Amino acid sequence: MDSRRPAAQIAKEALRRLAQAQQEPTPENFARAYAQESGQEPPPAPASPKADRAQAEQMAQTIDKLMRGLERGGRSWTLARKKDGVARVLSANRSDPQRLLTRLSQLITSWDSDGGPAAKAGGDAHEEPGGTPSQFFEPEEFASSRFAEEFAAPAEPPPSAPSVWPEIETHLHGTVTHALRNPIGHGQDLIADLDAAQRELLAQGATPERAEQMLALCQRARHMLDHRQHLFAELGVLCRELSASIVELAEDDSWARGQASVMNDTLNQGLSGRGVRTVSEMLLGTRTRQRALRDERSRARESLKLLITRMLAELGELGRHTDRFQNNVGRYAEAVEKADSLESLAGTVREMVEESRSVQSLVHQTQERLTLEHDRATELAVKVTRLEDELRKLSNEVQTDQLTQIANRRGLIAAFDTEQAKAGRDQTRIALALLDIDNFKKLNDTLGHAAGDVALKSLAALVQQSLRPGDLVARYGGEEFVLLLPATPLDEAQRVLQRLQRELTKSLFSHEGREVFVTFSAGVTLYRSGETLEAALDRADVALYEAKHTGKNRACVAP
Ligand code: GH3
Ligand code: MG
Ligand code: MG
Repeated sequence: MDSRRPAAQIAKEALRRLAQAQQEPTPENFARAYAQESGQEPPPAPASPKADRAQAEQMAQTIDKLMRGLERGGRSWTLARKKDGVARVLSANRSDPQRLLTRLSQLITSWDSDGGPAAKAGGDAHEEPGGTPSQFFEPEEFASSRFAEEFAAPAEPPPSAPSVWPEIETHLHGTVTHALRNPIGHGQDLIADLDAAQRELLAQGATPERAEQMLALCQRARHMLDHRQHLFAELGVLCRELSASIVELAEDDSWARGQASVMNDTLNQGLSGRGVRTVSEMLLGTRTRQRALRDERSRARESLKLLITRMLAELGELGRHTDRFQNNVGRYAEAVEKADSLESLAGTVREMVEESRSVQSLVHQTQERLTLEHDRATELAVKVTRLEDELRKLSNEVQTDQLTQIANRRGLIAAFDTEQAKAGRDQTRIALALLDIDNFKKLNDTLGHAAGDVALKSLAALVQQSLRPGDLVARYGGEEFVLLLPATPLDEAQRVLQRLQRELTKSLFSHEGREVFVTFSAGVTLYRSGETLEAALDRADVALYEAKHTGKNRACVAP
C-alpha cells in the first residue's frame, strides 16, 4: 500500500480513475485501478464471466452505498472514522474480493445504524451486523495487523465519549512505564521511547505505522519484563541455595543454623511477600538481640580479666613485702647476735615488731581486697554464664512457641526426628496425640483474646509438668497441641490423655479475676515406621474428629 495516503483516499482516486476512463466499476476494473493507484501489481483475472457479472453488480452496489454513506454525517461514525474503517477493511481483505465486498457492505450497514433504532429499521440492516465503530472492528478484521489486537480503539474517539480513549491509553502507558521502572536505571531508554510514542499517538492519532512502532516497543518491554522475571526466579534459587548452605556449614544447634532452617522452610513454601517479610523480621529481631547479648557478655568477660590481673598484681606486691620481711629477719638475727646492750636489743625487737605489724596489716588489707575482688569475679562469672545461657536459648527460640514457651511445630519435627531414630533402634513405637481445645472460639468471644492466651499458656504449662521427662508437648497451631510419647502403647497413651483431661477439669485458670475453664478433645494413634509425621497426625485427626463429635472432652484412638 502507498504508505503516504490512507486506503480510503486511494479507493476514491481509483473510482475517479474508472470514471475518467469511462469504465464500468466492476470488481476487476476497480481492483486494477486501485492497484494502479497504489502502485501495486494488478490482481489476476476472475474465474468466470458469470461470476464476474454478479460480483460486478455487487461491487457497484457497494461502491454506491459507500459513496452515499461517506457523504452522510453520523453521531459515532464521523467522516474520519468512516475513512479509517474503509482503510482497515481494505487493508485486511485485499486478497479476497468476495470477503472484501462482504466486509465493506457490513461496514456501510453499521454506518446506517448510527443514530439509533430508526436508522437500523431501514435497508438490509437486519441482515448484517451494525453497531458502533468499536463493535464493528473485531480482531479478525485486522488479522493482518497485530495492532488491532492490542489497540483496537480507533484514532478519533466518538463524540459521546471524547475523553475515554486517551484516558485508557494514559493509564496503560502509566502501567507499562511503572512496570519497567527499576532502581538500577535499566529500562530508561525504553521508557523514553514509549513516552515519545505516546505523545505522538495522543497528538496525532493512531495509524498502522504507529501501531507497528508501538508493537515493537511493547515487544521490547516484554523482553525486559521476561528478563526481570527470570532474574527474580534466579534470586529465589540463590536465596534457597544460600540458606541451604548455611544449614550445612553452621555448627549443630547454632543460632545461624536454626535461623537458616526457618528461612529455608519459608522459602521452600514459595516466594511470597509475607513469607520473605516474616523471615527478614525474624532475622533482624534475633540478630539485634544476639548482638546486644554478645556485647554484654564481652564486657563482663573484660571486667573479669581486669579483676584477675589486679588480683595478681596485689599478690605480687604482697610477695615483694614478705620477701623484704624475710631479708629483714636475717638482718635482725645478725643485729641480735651483735647486740651488746639491752637497749640495742630492745631497739631491734621494736623494729621487728613494727615491721611484722606493717606486714600483717598489708596481708590483712590485701586479703580484704582479694575477697572483695573474688566476690566481684564470681558475680561476673555468673553473669557470663547467664548470658551464654541466654545466647543458647536464643538459638532454641526458633523451635519454641513464644506464647506458651513449649516446642513449636519446628521443635516437634526436630524432636520427632530424634525419637523416630531411637524408636527404630529400640524397636519401640511412638504414640502421637493431637489435642484441640474445646469451644475455644466461644472462650475468646466471651472473655476476650487475652483470656484465650492465658488458657493456652496454662494448658501448655499443665501438660508440660504432667508429662514424663522423655515426652514432649508442642503447640502445633492456634489451639492445637501435639503430644509425642516415645515407647508408649496405644491404650497407655489414651490413659495419659484421659489423666490430663481429668487434671485439667480440676484446675481453673484465673484471668483478671475471672475464672477460665478449659477442656480439650484428643485423637491418639501410633506412629507407623516409614510414614511421615503428617500422615500419622492425619490419622490422629480422624480420631480427634470422632472425639469432637461424640461429646468433646474425650480422647479417641485411631488404630
Ligand atoms: P471446637 O470445639 O470444635 O474445636 O471449636 P473451637 O471454637 O475450639 O474451634 P475453632 O477452630 O472454630 O476455633 C479456634 C479458635 O482459636 C479460633 C481462633 O480465633 C482461636 N485462636 C487461634 N490461635 C489463638 C491464639 O494464639 N490466641 C487466642 N486467644 N486464640 C487463638
Ligand atoms: Mg481447632
Ligand atoms: Mg477447638
